[in-house]
Amino acid sequence: MKKQTNTIFLPFLKLEKALENPNNTLSSLSLNFRFSSARRTQHGKFSSWSCVLMAELVGPRLYSCCNCRNHVALHDDVISKAFQGRNGRAFLFSHAMNVMVGAKEDRQLMTGLHTVADVYCSDCREVLGWKYERAYEETQKYKEGKFILEKSKIVKENW
Ligand SMILES: [Zn+2]
Repeated sequence: MKKQTNTIFLPFLKLEKALENPNNTLSSLSLNFRFSSARRTQHGKFSSWSCVLMAELVGPRLYSCCNCRNHVALHDDVISKAFQGRNGRAFLFSHAMNVMVGAKEDRQLMTGLHTVADVYCSDCREVLGWKYERAYEETQKYKEGKFILEKSKIVKENW
């Protein structure tokens, strides 16, 4: 994972609250900051309105389109890495982003009949995989609404 040390300024009250729990993340910053340490200002006191804070920026691990680097999925949304795509291995995701979903069609897959729709990158229109719209067998129902992205079509970003 890529790590950066950033210096950021926070209103004192917000900082004080955050420091009550050093492992807390400040969702109000819309980025995930995990506090590695908080430094006092040069005179050993927090100033009244702000404080220099050394924070470790931990961005989410992403997958991007192999063609244009558009962010298409979060590592946290991986359900399985053991799927078979058209061109080798594929990952099953609970969500995908910045993609377009094509027309639904019935397809006979190794695990039975499914209604699927191709998934395209919204920027470059590369076909990245497909979405399971419907599974007909009870054991396959868990795939409904989920996304297959081909391993060969996505690249790791921010790892
Ligand atoms: Zn793309």
